[in-house]
Amino acid sequence: METKSAYIHIPFCVRICTYCDFNKYFIHNQPVDEYLDCLIKEFHQPIKKELNTMFVGGGTPTALSTPQLEKLLQGIADNFDIRNEYTFEANPDELTDEKIRLLKDYGVNRLSMGVQTFDESLLKVLGRTHKTEDIYQAVNLANKFNINSISLDLMYHLPNQTLNQFEESLDIALSMDINHISSYGLILEPKTQFYNLYRKGKLKLPNEDLGEDMYELLLDKIHASNLHQYEISNFSQQGHESEHNKVYWKNEYYYGFGAGASGYTNGVRYTNVNPVNHYIKKIRNNETPILQQTEPNIKEQMEEQMFLGLRMNQGVSKALFAQRFGKKIEDIYPNELLELSKNNLIKNERDFVKLTERGKVIGNEVFEAFLID
Ligand code: SF4
Repeated sequence: METKSAYIHIPFCVRICTYCDFNKYFIHNQPVDEYLDCLIKEFHQPIKKELNTMFVGGGTPTALSTPQLEKLLQGIADNFDIRNEYTFEANPDELTDEKIRLLKDYGVNRLSMGVQTFDESLLKVLGRTHKTEDIYQAVNLANKFNINSISLDLMYHLPNQTLNQFEESLDIALSMDINHISSYGLILEPKTQFYNLYRKGKLKLPNEDLGEDMYELLLDKIHASNLHQYEISNFSQQGHESEHNKVYWKNEYYYGFGAGASGYTNGVRYTNVNPVNHYIKKIRNNETPILQQTEPNIKEQMEEQMFLGLRMNQGVSKALFAQRFGKKIEDIYPNELLELSKNNLIKNERDFVKLTERGKVIGNEVFEAFLID
C-alpha cells in the first residue's frame, strides 16, 4: 500500500477553548516562525512527492499571520504535488479576504471551519473567539473565492443546550451555501476548563438520553436535506466527502508532520515529539522528530480495519479485508457477526459489513465486539 496522504499540524490558537484537549498552545510568545522553518525542513523531499490528499489542521492554521501562512503554503508547494483534495482547518473570525485569497492561490480547495454552534451564548461558554456574524462572513468569502468544498463543524450535547437550540443551529447550517457538515457530541476530557468546572459542580451537561436525541435529530434533519450521511458524524453533498478522512477510516497510510503529529506508513504507526520546543530542537539537530513508533500486529490491524471501517456508511469491504489479511471476515468474526446481526446492530451483506441505524447510535459498543481476545 502506497502512502498518498499527509497531515500537517499547526499547534497554535489565539485563545484556548474551554472544552479542548487537542494538542495546541496559546500562540502568544510561541516561536511560530521557527516552528514553520522546522516543519518545512521535516517535510523536505528531494523530488516533489505526489499526494492525493493533504490536510492542514491544528490548533488552528488560520491563527498564523498572512506572511506565516504564505511561508507554510510555499513550503508545502515546494515539496508536494497535491492531486486531489487540499484542506485547511479554519476559524471563522480568522478567515480574512487576504488569507482566503492566499489559500485559493496555492490550490487549497476545501475549508473545514470550526463553527460549533450558531448560538451566541453557547459560543461564549465554549470560549470561541468568533461570533455568528463571523460565520456568515467566512462562508460568503469562501464562496466568493470559489473554494470547492466548505465544511462546518457543529457540536452538540453542550452545557445547558436544549434540543431546540441544537435544532436551530442545524437549521441555519443546512440553509447555508456549504457542502459538508461534521457533527460531534461534546466529550468531557480531563485537563480542560470544562472538566475542572464539572468537578466543582459548576458545569451541567445534558443527560445521555438528550445527547442521543440530538444525534437522532441530526440524522433526521440530514435525511431531509441535500446532504447524505457517509460516516457516523459526517454528512456531505455528492462529491464533497472528505477524501482525507476516508484514508483514516479505511485504515490506509498517511504521513504526519509537526509537533505531536501521528502518521502511519509501511506498517508502522508513529507519533512525533511534543511540545513545540522539543520538536524544534530535534529538527534543528537533524534528528528524527519521531518519539515513538509501533508496528501493529495482524490481530491489531484487523481490529482497526473493523472499527474504523464500520464508522463509514458503506462499512467494511469484505474483499479489501480478504485482500489485506488473506482471510475472510466471516472466518475471523463468525460469532460476532451472527450476534450483532441478531441484535440489529450490524448488517452482514454480501460485500460489506455495516452498522444499522441503531448500531450508529451506540457505535462504540459495537466496535468493542470486534476486539480479538
Ligand atoms: S480553536 Fe480548536 S484547537 Fe484551538 S483551542 Fe479551540 S477547539 Fe482547541
